[in-house]
Amino acid sequence: MREALLNVAQQLVQAGLNKGASGNCSVRDNDGLLITPSGIDVALMNATSMVSMQMDGKAEAGKKPSSEWFFHRDIYQQRPEVNAVIHTHSMFATTMACLHQAIPAFHYMIAITGGDHIRCAPYALFGTPALSALALMALRGRKACLLANHGMIAVGASLEEALAIAVEVENLCEQYWRLLQITPTPPLLGEAEMQAVHQQFKNYRNWKR
Ligand code: 13P
Ligand code: ZN
Repeated sequence: MREALLNVAQQLVQAGLNKGASGNCSVRDNDGLLITPSGIDVALMNATSMVSMQMDGKAEAGKKPSSEWFFHRDIYQQRPEVNAVIHTHSMFATTMACLHQAIPAFHYMIAITGGDHIRCAPYALFGTPALSALALMALRGRKACLLANHGMIAVGASLEEALAIAVEVENLCEQYWRLLQITPTPPLLGEAEMQAVHQQFKNYRNWKR
């Protein structure tokens, strides 16, 4: 599991979604979680750098878990279907988050995040329970959200799903950003059209645990 988590942290860098020590990821591990270490460049991490944590916040001796362990832990506690959490400072998601801009249904793939738009949580200081509370609210019923003046969170039933959602959210944010260069009001899909997409998705793609 430590290898799998390291692999995802490395894939986030390879895909250009994170750079250096920005962002973090975790996976549910029995009664607790396994999370990337704090403030360490992914290039310098190895499998043993991953930090095992209990739900009460107690971390493996001698290791420093990601400063964002509050929202990782709180997501696992409040969302039983979630087994992996990814946080990035990727270029386009962060650009939109810095504009406090929710992403509307300009493209049908918005439905991959579980709703008709991607919410943007209001700003709160990184590494705080306050940020966690706002993130949990923005994630209600969803698999992704933006964090104002910060970045994005993607969650999934598996590391594979959370990674796919993170990559797609970044893609959608780039597409939306491009549209906004042309018009402030790109045409949007309506509620009925998005309902049909949600229905179609039920038979489309099922990520394994
Ligand atoms: P960590 O290195 O502590 O995970 O912090 C990175 C980050 O993205 C904080 O929001
Ligand atoms: Zn961050």
